[in-house]
Amino acid sequence: MNTHCDILVVGGGVAGTAAAVAAARTGCRTVLIEREQYLGGIGYSGLLQHLCGLYVNSETEPKETLNNGIARELVSLLGKRTPQRKVVKIGQVYVLPYSRDDLQFVLGSLCSAEPSLSVFPEAEALSVESNQGVLMNVTVGRSGITQEIQPGMVIDCTGSGAVSVMAGASFDMAPPERVQLAGYIVQIRALVNRDDSLSIKVPYYLADAVNKGKLPPFLRFTTFTPGEEPDEGFCKLSIDGQIDHDREQLARQYAETVHRYLSTVLPSFKDSRIAASSRGVMDREGRRIRGEYTLTEDDVVRGRKFPDGVAKNSWPIELWDRERGTLYRYLKPGDYYEIPLRCLTVQGFRNLLCAGRCISVSHEALGSTRVMGTCITLGEQAAVAAAHYLRHGYYPQTREKRETAKEKIT
Ligand SMILES: Cc1cc2nc3c(=O)[nH]c(=O)nc-3n(C[C@H](O)[C@H](O)[C@H](O)COP(=O)(O)OP(=O)(O)OC[C@H]3O[C@@H](n4cnc5c(N)ncnc54)[C@H](O)[C@@H]3O)c2cc1C
Repeated sequence: MNTHCDILVVGGGVAGTAAAVAAARTGCRTVLIEREQYLGGIGYSGLLQHLCGLYVNSETEPKETLNNGIARELVSLLGKRTPQRKVVKIGQVYVLPYSRDDLQFVLGSLCSAEPSLSVFPEAEALSVESNQGVLMNVTVGRSGITQEIQPGMVIDCTGSGAVSVMAGASFDMAPPERVQLAGYIVQIRALVNRDDSLSIKVPYYLADAVNKGKLPPFLRFTTFTPGEEPDEGFCKLSIDGQIDHDREQLARQYAETVHRYLSTVLPSFKDSRIAASSRGVMDREGRRIRGEYTLTEDDVVRGRKFPDGVAKNSWPIELWDRERGTLYRYLKPGDYYEIPLRCLTVQGFRNLLCAGRCISVSHEALGSTRVMGTCITLGEQAAVAAAHYLRHGYYPQTREKRETAKEKIT
């Protein structure tokens, strides 16, 4: 592994992979480290079916993605692999169906096309050293060996803001009673006569079982979506994100209980089986690393634009509330808001940015910014800004503010 690089990206989810590819394309020597064996993060391991946040939320089907750049490129590459998967409208929003294998393939091929990019799977950032707001060294563990990396810039795409927290950055977290419900998804196969009515019947029967005291309360918010195969469906279970003890085991038990119950009340489920499950419980909400600006609910629903806006988003505020289940607040049809670069630049640090799920937004705004389409553009834009900072000593679009400092890291 290189010991020096221009840009170090930590976390190879959709945000981190986009960041690494974009950084390498600027000619910067870029290193991407990812704890797991695979790229794509939750987008790969979560058994998700749709890429959200790619399109404007309007009356008519969008012809193009809201953001250009890597998001649009990724959609085009996915389309070449499986042209039969087209944009679909679910409720009021447009989403792109995808398979995790295609996503993995496309992310991998985008990385391999970049000679300035080195990707290290199964490599975890363990600790960081910083001096006066500059990250000097990142210790990385890989196959039991530790290695030191001295980066010019660091982009924290860990989803949880792990690198920023190790560096001592400030962050916000919702109080326990407000943290959104986490999710656990299981794929069901061998369903018989599966039709659209199951999307209504599954939550109905589970809510009924909860009301009768047969199932724990959060399971009332379980949803069902049909899969692409005629005998396939996905149950998305809601899990208390605050449980930190044995929650994987607990989620598995809940999934089995739910499946058993559905097999007794719904004939379609009678001989079905759980074929796969997401890799662990997935947090919708964790740390939000404090940046130079914190995006608010008002910014989102009013469609606010910023002089340093770097990503457009039209996805509604989708909050998985502990008491009331999923709550939506939509923007006006056709409108979008912007996420300013200042949500990505970490307060108190000169060579550290965040991208993806852990950026500087309020609890409510996170309900909109966290979707994958948006995370891809955030990753890309963090990289463009980091490369600009390396070359010029200030971030693009905030020139006036930074020019006086004339700080050049490398
Ligand atoms: C239950 C649930 C359902 C969802 N459904 C959808 C959906 O249908 N559509 C949609 O678009 N979005 C959905 N989302 C949101 C979306 O999946 C995530 O917010 C998004 O994928 C986050 O991307 P990311 O790259 O920021 O983070 P992640 O995907 O979490 O990636 C972070 C990566 O960093 C790695 N990492 C962490 N720490 C370290 C470290 N110290 N060193 C090295 N690597 C590290 C992790 O292994 C991981 O691969 C859902 C989220 C949840 C929880």
